[in-house]
Amino acid sequence: MRVLVVEDEKRIADFLSRGLQSAGYAVDVVHTGGEAIERVHTTEYDLVVLDLGLPDVDGLQVLQKIKNRKTIPPVLILSARDSVDDRVRGLEQGADDYLVKPFAFVELLARARVLLRRGQPTPEKLQVADLSLDCIRRKVTRNSENIELAPKEFSILEYMMRNRGRPLSRTMIVEHVWDMDYDGLTNIVDVYIRHLRSKIDDRFPIKMIHTVRGIGYMLDAPETAQSAGAEQVIA
Ligand code: CA
Repeated sequence: MRVLVVEDEKRIADFLSRGLQSAGYAVDVVHTGGEAIERVHTTEYDLVVLDLGLPDVDGLQVLQKIKNRKTIPPVLILSARDSVDDRVRGLEQGADDYLVKPFAFVELLARARVLLRRGQPTPEKLQVADLSLDCIRRKVTRNSENIELAPKEFSILEYMMRNRGRPLSRTMIVEHVWDMDYDGLTNIVDVYIRHLRSKIDDRFPIKMIHTVRGIGYMLDAPETAQSAGAEQVIA
């Protein structure tokens, strides 16, 4: 899940970015409307958090530009303007929700989660054979055993489960899970996949994470693992 934060006040931008990152999202931050318009045209976001009071163009103008796109991410407006007018105008122009400053981070997170869910065609719980992932509670189990994952590991696993059976390149994984400040090597994916394998696959006879030569990785499991569950017997 990738979020774009558009906020000119650095203190608030940092606060949002840190909070959203620790909730497991990849976060890009821009400080002007111009940069925001540029980014939504080059990157696919799952959510845009948009401040209305920006130094260059009005946030509502940015909103319009976002809404003119073919694939439209949900937009959560953030503003110090608490007048009914602004709120109505924002919602009329297609904002999905509206939060007035000052706000508590937990409230922003709760609203962000609702919007992110709305944009998702896939369910909140993902299941591949005996591996299940709860996107809301951020819980992973395999064969009913709890598996503790670090936030990035969780994001990679979620991305792979949503794309079950589809080979994913290291670049795709990096773009989906790391933000734009990450300009390191895509080899980092190999490190995380190794961690994931040790937690998800090592203790189980049926391996789910597969290396796809020349491409990257893929998550899949034979259908037989689906029903075998706890009494799985490997001949
Ligand atoms: Ca502002």
